[in-house]
Amino acid sequence: MQTPLWQQALSEAFTQPTALLDYLGIERDSISVEFSSEFSMRVPRGFAALMRRGDPEDPLLRQVLPLQDESVHAQGFSRNPVGDLEAHAVPGLLHKYHGRALLITTGACAIHCRYCFRRHYPYENGSATPRQWETLLAYLGEHPTINEVILSGGDPLMLSDEKLGRWMQQLSEIPHLQRLRLHSRLPVVLPERITPELLAHLRENRLKSVLVIHANHPRELSNRVTGKLKALQKAGVLLLNQSVLLRGVNDQTAALVELSERLFEAGVMPYYLHLLDRVEGAAHFEVEQERIRALYSGLLSRLPGYMVPKLVRETAGEASKRPEGFDLTEQTVIHSDACQATSR
Ligand SMILES: *Cc1c(COP(=O)(O)O)cnc(C)c1O
Ligand code: SF4
Repeated sequence: MQTPLWQQALSEAFTQPTALLDYLGIERDSISVEFSSEFSMRVPRGFAALMRRGDPEDPLLRQVLPLQDESVHAQGFSRNPVGDLEAHAVPGLLHKYHGRALLITTGACAIHCRYCFRRHYPYENGSATPRQWETLLAYLGEHPTINEVILSGGDPLMLSDEKLGRWMQQLSEIPHLQRLRLHSRLPVVLPERITPELLAHLRENRLKSVLVIHANHPRELSNRVTGKLKALQKAGVLLLNQSVLLRGVNDQTAALVELSERLFEAGVMPYYLHLLDRVEGAAHFEVEQERIRALYSGLLSRLPGYMVPKLVRETAGEASKRPEGFDLTEQTVIHSDACQATSR
């Protein structure tokens, strides 16, 4: 069988920092790169093509280039920041929240995000074995309160269409399941992954499908990406986006506003804006509390409410992601003439 185009594109991804810097025309000694990270570099060429040439501060580059900053030990940053290692109900299945079970389908990703909270996660390489999969299905079958399954990882779209199709079919046979959710960065970083076969699997499945993509900066949403998003929407998939608030990447009100606008245009509703999980090696991405407050007030005052992502933090042991609350009394009121009858 022929290798699908997306797998071929994946095999051509940048894995050496020097090759990426050369491609972007950035002087190697203008930036302090970490060459021996245990979490290797991986950047699909299509994603690299969206970076600005010659700019070591480019927000897309910063998400993926290993820097020496990663080896700084910062207080409060750990290898297992959200308690996932303790939460496995059976191997590969996290059942932390009511009604939803999250499956770690594979440890692989198309891109390695330097801020990833699973960067130290002890994944088995490759995907769940057939035997593990049987155990997962049995667990789901025995828990009628679970009505939504989340395929996560790693990245579930790293699995072949054949395997995904088979798994989706088996899940749809569990009568109490209603929704199938996928958490994937591939529609953004490797849009060729959205194949006609995948669209058919999503369209034809009994379960209502939800795809949560992951874009952090408006420039990630190229026309190729938004074209694929439109196709997903046509296949009946509800599209949501989650971002992580990252210093030097999207800690500007204008960038976040534009991200929401572009997502909406492409049929994607902003869902979560995550505060950084305090994972070892990512301290240089943390945004200060005061700045977070200013940024979020900026979003609330500049966007329609439905385009403002929920600002959340994940804390080990809690029953949901925790919405971050702010006192917004200092927010500037621009229009105070809203009609009383319709303002609620
Ligand atoms: C984030 C997460 C979910 C999904 O939470 P939502 O708030 O429904 O998006 C489910 N299970 C686990 C283990 C999670 O980390
Ligand atoms: S795609 Fe998601 S899971 Fe993979 S490295 Fe990036 S943030 Fe982590």
